Amino acid sequence: MKPSLFDYCSPQTVSEVVSALSEDPGAMILAGGQSLVPAMNLRLASPTRLVDIKNVADLSDISISDGVIKVGAMVRHRDLELDDTVHAAHPLIREMMHYVAHVPIRNRGTVVGSLCHADAAAEMPLLLLLAGGTVTAVGPNGTRDIAAAEFFQFHMTTSRAPDEMILHANIPVLPEGAGYAFHEFARRQGDYAIAAVGAILSVDGGNTVTSARVGACGIASTPVLLNRVEEAITGSTLTKQSIDDAAKVAGDAVTLPDDMHATTGYRKHLLSGLVRRVLAEAAERATGEPVQ
Ligand SMILES: Cc1cc2nc3c(=O)[nH]c(=O)nc-3n(C[C@H](O)[C@H](O)[C@H](O)COP(=O)(O)OP(=O)(O)OC[C@H]3O[C@@H](n4cnc5c(N)ncnc54)[C@H](O)[C@@H]3O)c2cc1C
Repeated sequence: MKPSLFDYCSPQTVSEVVSALSEDPGAMILAGGQSLVPAMNLRLASPTRLVDIKNVADLSDISISDGVIKVGAMVRHRDLELDDTVHAAHPLIREMMHYVAHVPIRNRGTVVGSLCHADAAAEMPLLLLLAGGTVTAVGPNGTRDIAAAEFFQFHMTTSRAPDEMILHANIPVLPEGAGYAFHEFARRQGDYAIAAVGAILSVDGGNTVTSARVGACGIASTPVLLNRVEEAITGSTLTKQSIDDAAKVAGDAVTLPDDMHATTGYRKHLLSGLVRRVLAEAAERATGEPVQ
């Protein structure tokens, strides 16, 4: 199929982008086009105007200050993935980005575009939630920061207003000494996750978990933090048994009904296995030793 008719504009400034969005309620931003263009071709999206942001200055910057990695709206997946300073500040990012589609798609698609597209099985929304990050939106009334937990409302639905553009994503760096891990199950490399889990663990000298962020995507209508797993593992001394016990309570977070990819029961089974794997790996990275 071909897209329905649309106008096209290519603003040079952020205020021109906001004006273009405000003038036409049917307008949509075009970033890398890797999700929007297929959706238009399938007539799942029919914007009346495309507001192409690739010529807006200063949207391709990546910077780190005050413990936050700032990722501009036109930063391509591949630029963030290959940035060594970002890798040193938050090694989980590169680890997760390896699972986002394929290299040609990561060369064009943007990180912020992925956040705005908000596929419930996508890796970048989970990263933002896990890291406790925010996005900065700009609209006719100025700018505002939106926490990941409020930004992702439903599958492919965010709390961004139609006349707002997301200027950048803000990802806190990995806490000092924390361990991290990410594992995903998909039918083929590059497909969206049937289930995926990430974890960030801080552990003290006595092998006790002092803080845990554990989240998943592909199992609900948004990425979710696995609160019951976090509660079970926080304060426990790391052993294979404590990790098993925490993994056992993961399944409740699965709220997707059976679909063409997996049954709910299978997703619960996958989730427990993935939680066990990421907790063990994050623990090993935090302590430098395999969990006994
Ligand atoms: C074959 C294939 C496989 C894929 N597999 C995966 C995968 O495994 N995991 C994964 O995460 N992704 C996957 N993707 C999607 C890919 O990551 C996209 O690049 C990404 O989701 C969207 O980025 P984009 O820059 O291309 O955005 P676009 O397609 O240009 O835009 C996507 C949406 O975001 C909006 N938008 C974009 N930028 C802004 C902004 N600054 N402010 C407000 N709204 C904005 C657009 O209006 C549109 O609604 C896949 C894509 C393809 C084609």
